[in-house]
Amino acid sequence: MELLAIMYHYVFASGAENPFDKMHYMPLASFKNQVDHILNAYEPVGVTDIAGFLSGKPWAKERPPVVFTFDDGLRCHYENVFPFFKEKGIPGQFFIITSTIVENAIPFVHKSHLLGNHLGDRGLRDRFLEVYQRDWGPVDLEKAAPMEKAVKTYRWDPPEIKQFKYFINFGLSDSVREKTMNELFRQCFGDGETLRKQFFMTKEDIVAMAGSGMEIGGHSHLHKPLSGLPVQERQADVNRCLSSLQEILGKRVRTFSYPYGKRETFDEVVIELLRTAGLTCAFSTIVGKNPPGTDCFMIRRLDPKDVNA
Ligand SMILES: [Zn+2]
Repeated sequence: MELLAIMYHYVFASGAENPFDKMHYMPLASFKNQVDHILNAYEPVGVTDIAGFLSGKPWAKERPPVVFTFDDGLRCHYENVFPFFKEKGIPGQFFIITSTIVENAIPFVHKSHLLGNHLGDRGLRDRFLEVYQRDWGPVDLEKAAPMEKAVKTYRWDPPEIKQFKYFINFGLSDSVREKTMNELFRQCFGDGETLRKQFFMTKEDIVAMAGSGMEIGGHSHLHKPLSGLPVQERQADVNRCLSSLQEILGKRVRTFSYPYGKRETFDEVVIELLRTAGLTCAFSTIVGKNPPGTDCFMIRRLDPKDVNA
């Protein structure tokens, strides 16, 4: 028997009233169907059972355990997932990027999703290159992002979008990429405050969820790959995240989800920080299920598309 952890992203009710209709999202109706379907075969569990099961304690239930997880502290989780889970008594795991709450920040990856939703893939490409070339001079895309490599890295997009994605992710330094995206974001959305409120949960949302059986955990402060930061910044980021949540909730959090979450994005330093802070478990984005004996700080997850319960 194995513990199944599923990692959901955007969940929106489809239709004209969804302002984020061009994002890759799971329609609310499909989400509910999938959860109901999974519950026929699995037992939804919270933190204590997760830790017990992974540490090899005898599992008395007939059906294997499942945990539903939601990264990034998105408002759609509060609006769409929370009422459904509350009604069903499912303890969902929600992981918060604390800079979105205590500093009104929008992390890079969400800026790029919001711009893609607003401009379309081609619009985002054209406008990003426009801003980039204005600030940094002409770019030879074929040199900075060889098509041959781009097509091997991305599978589904048209060639010019593959090349653009490769350019953004591998052809630019972090700071140039971020500055350019910030400038384009400012051009399209000003200070982005209205959008941020539509997109991320507030303190009040989190407190309400924690008070109704949901588990709130950390997802870092700035949403950067933690292993890429110098050790001091890594510690500062994790501590800031955990202490901000403790202040908001009035108690320590027990769970964490690593930003990006692949094996190379977190390391022993980060795991040790979480253990020392008294956390019980942490989730990665390494794909797979979790037999007893799995490290509680390296829980594997499945994408909803990979689940056929
Ligand atoms: Zn994330």
